[in-house]
Amino acid sequence: MVNYRYLGNSGLKISEITYGNWLTHGSQVENDVATQCVRAALDAGITTFDTADVYANTKAEQVLGDALKGERRESLEIFTKVYWPTGPGGPNDTGLSRKHVMESINGSLQRLGTDYVDLYQAHRYDTETPLEETMQAFADIVRQGKALYIGVSEWTADQIRAGAAMAKDLGFQLISSQPQYSMLWRVIEDEVVPASKEAGLSQIVWSPMAQGVLSGKYVPGKDLPAGSRATDSKGGARMIERFMRDDVLERVQGLKPVADELDLSMAQLAVAWVLQNDNVAAALVGASRPEQVAENVKASGVTIPAELMARIDDVLGDVVERDPAKTAEGAPQTRVV
Ligand code: NDP
Repeated sequence: MVNYRYLGNSGLKISEITYGNWLTHGSQVENDVATQCVRAALDAGITTFDTADVYANTKAEQVLGDALKGERRESLEIFTKVYWPTGPGGPNDTGLSRKHVMESINGSLQRLGTDYVDLYQAHRYDTETPLEETMQAFADIVRQGKALYIGVSEWTADQIRAGAAMAKDLGFQLISSQPQYSMLWRVIEDEVVPASKEAGLSQIVWSPMAQGVLSGKYVPGKDLPAGSRATDSKGGARMIERFMRDDVLERVQGLKPVADELDLSMAQLAVAWVLQNDNVAAALVGASRPEQVAENVKASGVTIPAELMARIDDVLGDVVERDPAKTAEGAPQTRVV
């Protein structure tokens, strides 16, 4: 079963393996398979589920809400996000303005079939809305009981520091940061993690398996596995492209002996690796099939000895990205409509 960790400097416990439905629910996988994945997660002791209004243009929230129907609400932690446009593209259908935040939470709650979310996250930093306006809107949402806690995603260290200080002044806390983090993408280690520790946030990390690449199933020179994200023309193939390079895939194959030594699959090794970082509260893992969920949860509770952590660094060498300047890479610098 899955272990639990506190989220930031709060009393909220979450399952250290959290199930996320980006690119899958409402898109790559049929609804019955989505439901089976959620069921497999619940059966394995996962209580924490992450989605966003923008995933499959709101369908992912709906599919997750339907799949969780009938579950005891108090036994779940449901996370969603606001920022990216989901409406017909009006000037206020995007960003972190008070208008968009206050309207978006209502849509998310309706689709998820719940009166409140446990964590409401700013999906990116909005460079055009004053931070005070966003934080005041979040404070009001917390006071209305529509969200119990607030987090951010892909914010830089400076943005986290400023947001956390302002939240404190308004009487609530930022408790989490949701960045990309894996053996191949370590850009948060130098700046985001220290700033988060200081401000009382922990990380809920996305794509811990580099979207499936670290499972070792993409072998250079071989056909892509049928049904995998790299073959998903609805969006997955484009998203995983960054890691689909022979030099990366070859290095990843070199991790197999390390996984064998720990009696883990490569997928489990990848998930266990992010959980070795004590500022990580959860690995946010996706799945296109229920068997993957059952496999991945076994990464919970694994300790990777220092000697093998060092070996992983040696095997991956310079294909690992560590440049802190790449934090929030691709985050829009102006409002997207
Ligand atoms: P992962 O790195 O865990 O990749 C998951 C994908 O890898 C699965 O959908 C599956 O794809 C493949 N996979 C999973 N388990 C196995 C296995 N055991 N063996 C082989 N292949 C496997 O994470 P995601 O990229 O899916 O992201 C996870 C979550 O993070 C999202 O659902 C979302 O909640 C969050 N996220 C947040 C972002 C943000 O901006 N805040 C951005 C992106 C994600 P397949 O079978 O199709 O190959």
